[in-house]
Amino acid sequence: MAQAGHPEAAARFAADDARAHWHDQALWFVRLKRDRQARALPEWEALRACAEKIKAHTASRLADYLEEFERNATAAGAVVHWARDAEEHNRIVHGILAARGVTRLVKSKSMLTEECELNPYLEARGIEVVDTDLGERIVQLAHERPSHIVLPAIHKKKEEIGVLFHEQLGTAAGASDPAYLTEAARGHLREKFLAAQAGLTGVNFAVAETGGVVVCTNEGNADMGTSLPPIHIACMGVEKLVPRLADLGVFTRLLARSATGQPVTTYTSHFHGPMAGGELHVVVVDNGRSALLAAPPHRRALSCIRCGACMNTCPVFRRSGGYSYGAVIPGPIGSILSPARDPARHATLPFASSLCGSCSDVCPVRIDLHHQLLAWRGELVAQGRLPAGKRLAMKLASFVFRHPALYRLGGRVGRFLLRHLPRALLYGRWNAWGRQRELPPAPKKSFRELYGRDDG
Ligand code: SF4
Repeated sequence: MAQAGHPEAAARFAADDARAHWHDQALWFVRLKRDRQARALPEWEALRACAEKIKAHTASRLADYLEEFERNATAAGAVVHWARDAEEHNRIVHGILAARGVTRLVKSKSMLTEECELNPYLEARGIEVVDTDLGERIVQLAHERPSHIVLPAIHKKKEEIGVLFHEQLGTAAGASDPAYLTEAARGHLREKFLAAQAGLTGVNFAVAETGGVVVCTNEGNADMGTSLPPIHIACMGVEKLVPRLADLGVFTRLLARSATGQPVTTYTSHFHGPMAGGELHVVVVDNGRSALLAAPPHRRALSCIRCGACMNTCPVFRRSGGYSYGAVIPGPIGSILSPARDPARHATLPFASSLCGSCSDVCPVRIDLHHQLLAWRGELVAQGRLPAGKRLAMKLASFVFRHPALYRLGGRVGRFLLRHLPRALLYGRWNAWGRQRELPPAPKKSFRELYGRDDG
């Protein structure tokens, strides 16, 4: 497939300066909330270190823990299904629903089902799928995909949601009050919950020791979707496992604080076996995760608990929006997961970063995101996936850096041109840097000259 082209998509988002600014501020607000929560816990860094170690340990014995999980989940009355890839996952879910005559499914947030494109698969087979998180429902009604893994409709203004709800749910024209719109969504979703024949959820954590799965939400929709209809399908990637129940507290303390700046999610629901008279199916999905596990440089990406903190802090994400990544998981973590899946399509993503390291600083499981981004750049260059213009520029820069006299001459010429060229030439189409900002004033002397040394 062709490259997703982050620079072009980002330029389209950034062209609406007001939206880009507002998006930036909205996410920064969440980042600051996260900071306040992190600072309030003296043991924050110890928790992060502990989470990192638990994840590394689990990954090193993943097959054993998966088998332990299956044994315990089965003993508790759940049915565990294994899916090699997205196609098999979708087939299994459809098979469960079709065998029980289900035509109405309510779903709570699951990035895995987005990854597997489950909704269109089921809808094409006559099953109505209703996403029940408010943000997910908004993007579903708008026929869009989530632009952020925790805040799926963060790119939409309340006025736009007001228009959407007026058209789709019959709310008053021009209404954009969030409380009114939320109440309308609640009424609409209640009908869907009551009519549903099955509920599907994602899984935040699965515990090998108990065979239970844990779902964290703020709206209670996962609980409605799993307690009203008799069939609960929980879909999880193999990386969601933690070994012991005691490990869970480490992650639940980190997750909500990192995601939305809350001390804990409003609902942390544990499912151990089906409810009385019901069914619980757990679909465990690989879909490329084993390949990532087998690649030591990139293995740590599997530790991600999908909190979204790296997106909220990333200056590139905040100013370019989630859709510019052309991937289900955007932002820094998406930029290292996506090339592993399809390097040709996502070759621009590891370059969508300033490598400032803020993502690694906030990551609750201490994934070395900016190092991984750099490693991916190296791999993509080695695979010959850098555009010809950039390749040539890098070769030229490498040549100049290896020849100090040439470097100094280049600096002198550059400073002269910056001072004397007319603005129309300096800020021409070729100057991508200058399209959105002023070039710095050129000093008369180089750094070396200012220090009075010219001999290295
Ligand atoms: S990489 Fe880290 S910060 Fe980013 S979503 Fe995953 S856990 Fe959160």
